Amino acid sequence: MGTNEHYFTRAKLSIPGGVNSPVRAYGSVGGTPRFLVSARGAYVTDAEGREYVDLVSSWGPAILGHAYPSVVKAVQDAAAKGLSFGASTPGETELAELVRERVRVGDQCAVEKLRLVSTGTEATMTAIRLARGATGRDLLVKFAGHYHGHSDALLAEAGSGLATLAMPGSAGVTAATAAQTLVIPYNDLAAVRAVFAEHGPNIAAVIVEAAAANMGVVAPERGFNRALAAIARENGALTIFDEVLTGFRVGPAGWWGLEAARVVPDGAGWQPDLFTFGKVIGGGMPLAALGGRADIMDRLAPLGPVYQAGTLSGNPVAVAAGIATLRAADAAVYAKLDAVADRLSAAVSAALAAQGVEHTVQRAGNLFSFAFAATAPRNYADVKAQQAFRYAPFFHAMLDAGVSLPPSVFEAWFVSAAHDDAAVSRILDALPAAARAAAAP
Ligand code: PMP
Repeated sequence: MGTNEHYFTRAKLSIPGGVNSPVRAYGSVGGTPRFLVSARGAYVTDAEGREYVDLVSSWGPAILGHAYPSVVKAVQDAAAKGLSFGASTPGETELAELVRERVRVGDQCAVEKLRLVSTGTEATMTAIRLARGATGRDLLVKFAGHYHGHSDALLAEAGSGLATLAMPGSAGVTAATAAQTLVIPYNDLAAVRAVFAEHGPNIAAVIVEAAAANMGVVAPERGFNRALAAIARENGALTIFDEVLTGFRVGPAGWWGLEAARVVPDGAGWQPDLFTFGKVIGGGMPLAALGGRADIMDRLAPLGPVYQAGTLSGNPVAVAAGIATLRAADAAVYAKLDAVADRLSAAVSAALAAQGVEHTVQRAGNLFSFAFAATAPRNYADVKAQQAFRYAPFFHAMLDAGVSLPPSVFEAWFVSAAHDDAAVSRILDALPAAARAAAAP
């Protein structure tokens, strides 16, 4: 096996930037990206044979830990029966039924119908087309710093890799498309009211991350999502609740489930029109979905006039991974994720405080991150104003000690149920040196 440096040099000759997704290039933290060859439980192993405790978790899917036995077995069994049929399968219905059962609180079923696609990008792209088709309106409202995948309409002031690379949008998006996306600050109901006051009759939908986690974590303020949906409804617009990242990760029914069950205060009693899911729903395989009100979902082809399709949609191997993951993700798993998130976020905060590093703990359910700021950021402008330069030395000190963090301060940290005491201890041991490094620059 070669070194990470060798693989990166070679990759750059045949892959743009050496990566197939920009954040992987370590652009904002510098250094050589680790080329991974295997993963098990809470650990990943690089091409040099070095093992790291993983706090990326494939950017969300690996809630059970990597290579979870029942998921791997489901995938192997499905693969042995054929990789792709391009026809309907019983498994697709089973997965849709599982989601229907889960994304409900009491009698309130929030996902009456579900369509499977292959990526979160496809799910949100289809959801906005569906909203436009259903309302006959053109405009879309999104929030600065929220990331919904890389379709043209959704790249304006987006988080995730665009935040990391400080890109306000993307070249190649036509001015006409960009003009149809209205971007407003997050957690600001006055801005929501203002955009509807000005453009109300032309707004098809507002799309929002259930809890923002692509500019680091920025939780919605009390009652924000509910009020947002109410304003949209008063104006005849739909609410698209993007749970690609939060869905089945922060709880069995995602972030909406936490609000509906009053785990998050002041959220109960409302329902989005459409949801998007990804990541956990595919258990690490390429699978995502959009779902919600049956009357809207039934406007998709073949029943309705809004077209969407996919050669690999509902792929049987991916569906098997999704079913096995959701079946294994029980109450004990979510309790474990919450406990690990509590322990780690408190320990990182204590280590930074011990070095006098100004920071806030950003938390939404079991998702967390840290902002190098005096007060908790509530929107993208606040997030961008932090002392982001402190993250690179912190990140590298952790990496040197065998802990793999997201290579950007504008991303959430992802724990798994496999983060046992041994894995957590390794992280805790690495913290004092990393906090010193963050204090130094
Ligand atoms: N929406 C959200 C909230 C996401 O976090 C992401 C991916 N990080 C996406 C959409 C896009 O999903 P994908 O990368 O599968 O296209």
